[in-house]
Amino acid sequence: MLSVEQACTRILSHFQPVASESIPLSQAANRILAQDIIAADDLPLFDNSSMDGFALRAEDSSSAAPASRVTLRVVADIPAGSSPTIPLAPGEAARIMTGAPLPQGANAVVPVEDTDFNNRDAGSAPPREVQITRALKPGENVRPRGMDVTTGDVVLHKGSHINAQAAGILAMLGYARVEVHRKPHVALMSSGDELLPVDAPLAPGKIRDSNSYMLAALIESTGADLLRLGIARDTRESVTGLLEQAAEQHVDLIISSAGVSVGAYDFVKEVIESNGALDFWRVNMRPGKPLAFGNYRNIPFIGLPGNPVSAFVGFEVFVRETIGRLSGLSNGGRYTVRVRCGEEIRSDGRESYLRATIHEQDGVYTATLTGHQGSGNLLSLVQADALLIIPAGVKCVPAGEEVNAWLI
Ligand code: AMP
Ligand code: MG
Repeated sequence: MLSVEQACTRILSHFQPVASESIPLSQAANRILAQDIIAADDLPLFDNSSMDGFALRAEDSSSAAPASRVTLRVVADIPAGSSPTIPLAPGEAARIMTGAPLPQGANAVVPVEDTDFNNRDAGSAPPREVQITRALKPGENVRPRGMDVTTGDVVLHKGSHINAQAAGILAMLGYARVEVHRKPHVALMSSGDELLPVDAPLAPGKIRDSNSYMLAALIESTGADLLRLGIARDTRESVTGLLEQAAEQHVDLIISSAGVSVGAYDFVKEVIESNGALDFWRVNMRPGKPLAFGNYRNIPFIGLPGNPVSAFVGFEVFVRETIGRLSGLSNGGRYTVRVRCGEEIRSDGRESYLRATIHEQDGVYTATLTGHQGSGNLLSLVQADALLIIPAGVKCVPAGEEVNAWLI
């Protein structure tokens, strides 16, 4: 049976980033860059003040102290958005606001708190003179042009996620449009005669189709466009009918849950085999062993297990990175952290993913398991904020030892 790593490598080898498109920055949040972002400007764009105060020549303030104030003539007022015209001569200052350009000749800004000027009302006129109560170092409270970014710097790399910070700097650099990968198109199908839509009345032997909602939320969290195929009955015709809809829509990936084990009614596997290919259908892990990979009419297909927790774990282990690859993302889109086990953890030697909460104890992130770890027990996953990863071959992790974890 394939290990998790072998299965992952095998799946990912079938995926390339989807095509790119140019879109307005206003629509680019959470997309993946298909271009390197090169600065055409310095950031900051010009020397500017980091404080509301008075721009001055630092030399002029060298003898200033609370008991021996230095008086400077205020020759200009520089609000943010204005451009100073007169240079400062020795003995002169200019009232200046945060973000406003420094006048020529000035090399420091004294905060208004370190002056005798205490009229801070909006709209107040600048004083004719200002008294400085302390010495300023050259460069103090000045944000020099280019301190953050120099023209020509690569600020963001192709394959990076446009998060809020990235959107901000793209705007700072004037990228009104950006080249990003289009959203991958992912179809989702549930399968099983026991499944009812969430709004249908319950009937004997039936359960509600929860995987559709959980997996839809996971797929949408990757930024992909979702095609909901609904519930396939346990017949060849029903499974084929829904998968055919995905093929007609030319989706990039089909995700299904259930029907890929060894049950007498597990038709999904069989339909994949006869309309495409089944690469593998089991992975040595827990939960989530019945996990299938193949294609339906050349569209990649990942069949997750039916049990809700197995489906979730299978998604996190195999699908998140796969959609990331399709989206053009250059990293796996997830961070592994080290946590301390707050209790002894037993495993059966398969690579295992256990539900836990993380809390801080003596300054260390410490994990506690959240109740029943059965693959159908969704509540303990709801209560968890991490999956602990117990490597293959490990049967016992003593309390106090560290393991890898994914925050979920
Ligand atoms: P199967 O893979 O078809 O043998 O299903 C394994 C288990 O997962 C069974 O207990 C199913 O009832 C359950 N299951 C399958 N699909 C879903 C679903 N969409 N929502 C909730 N439970 C499911
Ligand atoms: Mg079934």
